[in-house]
Amino acid sequence: MRCVICKSSDIQMKKVEEEIEIGDDIILIPVEVLVCLNCGERYYDRKTMRKIEETRIKLMRHDLKVEEVGKVLRANVA
Ligand SMILES: [Zn+2]
Repeated sequence: MRCVICKSSDIQMKKVEEEIEIGDDIILIPVEVLVCLNCGERYYDRKTMRKIEETRIKLMRHDLKVEEVGKVLRANVA
């Protein structure tokens, strides 16, 4: 398999954290995906896509425990 972005064949399975946005919150979920080591492009398989979607639905229903690991802050620089 080659990266469709940069054509590198340096692609490996890696544990990454996927960001899911729910309203103003960003929730990180650990997933294992193929990552291009050259440009950082991520390739999701169907199973991972489904896991992310299911997690998003659970989060929207508040069906999943989350812990606060930090805050997203906004600086008002106009
Ligand atoms: Zn690439």
